[in-house]
Amino acid sequence: MYDAAVVGAGPSGSLSAAHIAEAGYKVVLIDRDEIPRYKPCGGAIELTLVSKYKIPSEVIEREVESLVTYHTSGKVFHRLGFGAVVWRLKFDGYFQYLAAAAGAKLMESQALKSVTWRNDHYKLKLKRGDVETRMVVAADGVNSPTLKSIGWRPFKADEVYLTVQKEILSKKEKIAEIIGEKTINFYFGKDISKFGYGWAFPKRNVISLGWGCRLSDISNTRNSFQKFLDYEPIKKILSSGETIRTSAHLVPLKTREKFHEGGVVAVGDAAGLVDPISGKGIPYALESGELAAKTIIKVLDEEDPEGIRTYRDALQGSFLPVLEAKYNIVFDVYRNDENILRYLELWQKHRASEIAQKLWKK
Ligand SMILES: Cc1cc2nc3c(=O)[nH]c(=O)nc-3n(C[C@H](O)[C@H](O)[C@H](O)COP(=O)(O)OP(=O)(O)OC[C@H]3O[C@@H](n4cnc5c(N)ncnc54)[C@H](O)[C@@H]3O)c2cc1C
Repeated sequence: MYDAAVVGAGPSGSLSAAHIAEAGYKVVLIDRDEIPRYKPCGGAIELTLVSKYKIPSEVIEREVESLVTYHTSGKVFHRLGFGAVVWRLKFDGYFQYLAAAAGAKLMESQALKSVTWRNDHYKLKLKRGDVETRMVVAADGVNSPTLKSIGWRPFKADEVYLTVQKEILSKKEKIAEIIGEKTINFYFGKDISKFGYGWAFPKRNVISLGWGCRLSDISNTRNSFQKFLDYEPIKKILSSGETIRTSAHLVPLKTREKFHEGGVVAVGDAAGLVDPISGKGIPYALESGELAAKTIIKVLDEEDPEGIRTYRDALQGSFLPVLEAKYNIVFDVYRNDENILRYLELWQKHRASEIAQKLWKK
């Protein structure tokens, strides 16, 4: 019997498993894929995250010094921004390594099929065999089979972004010429995404070119995505190299109404803990993974199942108010191009959290 089973070995699950194992508990970290696995993601992170989690330099593909945003009206916005771009295969691999080094057992290529409560523990049915555990961390992403299995409803079409990302294999000099050596680029405008935006992030010899739009705002994915591909700056990027991979994925834009039930705690994308304007989720995945681990350790240490209630308070005391403030303005921001431009004007000079919490409503 495990003390905790963590389903999903992305950043949220891997860090959670690492902390629970460090506290001396018996943990299993389960993923449906073979590890390390490809994950469609821009991979942009802030410098504070690199230092907070001591991300090794070999995980970093590019250092970032500035951000540029293009609007289809022709306006361009600039700001400084220090950070890094990573491949998620290596980045998540680092956290999976931390989990294993702390003593968590890794189970790869083992998709979770169902979760059932058996008197005093959970039984997880996997692709091959079962696992018994006292507590569960649902870290299995936006579609979370774990939460679905315990009866939580899936995100609706107006609660998720559909994203499509292309990896363009190019040359270092070409990338520097087209999008900038240390610059991450964003593309806004109702013509190219009714509710969302596009991006081009430089990796060492690849440009990650992506597009996102709220799912309920798309009537024909192919046509909507094509409009983005036909936008002049994007055409230039596409012709700068060879497309080696195209993948689609959902990103939540609304947090769940609840974050735990019984002995199950939801983290990262499974819990909808993503910035609803930018789609940034890595910092919240890691932070929620840590907070969930602290909650689980407390429940196990004190043998008090009620202790799980402190998880919501922990999120509330951390980043949840910022995500909620951003959710409260996102519909207004994407209402029309005028509002998008007003947001970008503010974004040039202020942090997005400050815009959402103070400046937007003025
Ligand atoms: C195209 C795109 C670009 C993005 N760009 C950025 C960015 O630049 N910066 C940023 O901060 N955020 C970005 N995000 C968001 C970020 O990727 C997520 O918020 C983050 O990955 C969430 O981490 P997680 O650990 O919660 O879930 P995930 O990383 O999604 O991990 C979930 C894990 O669960 C596993 N799993 C799923 N089903 C099962 C099952 N049945 N059984 C077992 N395991 C299962 C999966 O294999 C996966 O490994 C982007 C997202 C997308 C889609």
